[in-house]
Amino acid sequence: MTRMNSLLERNEQFAATYTPAPLGPPTTQMVIVTCLDHRVDPAITLGLRLGDAPVIRNAGGRVTQAVIDDVAFLAFLAGQLFGGQGPDDRLFEVAVVHHTQCGTSLLADPGFRHQAAEATGLPEAALEASAVADPYTTVKADVERLLSSPLLSPKISVSGHVYDIATGRLTTTVDARYP
Ligand SMILES: [Zn+2]
Repeated sequence: MTRMNSLLERNEQFAATYTPAPLGPPTTQMVIVTCLDHRVDPAITLGLRLGDAPVIRNAGGRVTQAVIDDVAFLAFLAGQLFGGQGPDDRLFEVAVVHHTQCGTSLLADPGFRHQAAEATGLPEAALEASAVADPYTTVKADVERLLSSPLLSPKISVSGHVYDIATGRLTTTVDARYP
């Protein structure tokens, strides 16, 4: 038995009318970095369909080293598979999306953070760095972190956005720019 059963039924319905697509560039020319929170699924909030955009999700939607590594690999892959060779060729835009009421904001509280560190074995400093208490501040910092990474391809632009849980509205807070 598994709690997957009801989801497997949904998959049956999905597969019944499914048409496979060949590997191609993401049709929106976007990569989305966002929180793993199940209230902020970009397939729903941004209307993403299959083939529209790779989505990288972690706690808070933070630009961690793992995210930077994934973006670097996606850039390499896109360049190899779909890219032209011209200097003006652009690959894709990375949209960093943080949100209000993020569960990681609890980590801003030292007592909660200490408990979390003891329970998970993660360093308190790492937990503090991952907290999204003010998404407008953290999204700006993370756009800067990605743009300043030596691993970021000059053919990739980065933008920042905040999703408001209360309204369902996404607001652009950092315009897209290249490194
Ligand atoms: Zn969150």
